[in-house]
Amino acid sequence: MSSVVFDFTHGGVFMPMIIINQNYCKKCGICIAFCPKQVFIPGQKDYPQVQYVEKCTACKLCVFRCPDFALEVRE
Ligand code: SF4
Ligand code: SF4
Repeated sequence: MSSVVFDFTHGGVFMPMIIINQNYCKKCGICIAFCPKQVFIPGQKDYPQVQYVEKCTACKLCVFRCPDFALEVRE
């Protein structure tokens, strides 16, 4: 399984963990377009990439909107 895990800590403050399973992701860009905080940018090979995890509110809209169950957000 090929998963990319984005887990960052900023200034000692814990941030959500965002996991993108590239085996499931079809690069539709829905998560990039609909994240209300613009956390994602298009990354390598057009897979979504977490660029601004510090903005993530763990609302999980990206998880619910992903048609391929490729996203997981852990608080
Ligand atoms: S919504 Fe899901 S399938 Fe589409 S780019 Fe994002 S992670 Fe990949
Ligand atoms: S959980 Fe919400 S804020 Fe965080 S990346 Fe997903 S849509 Fe964006």
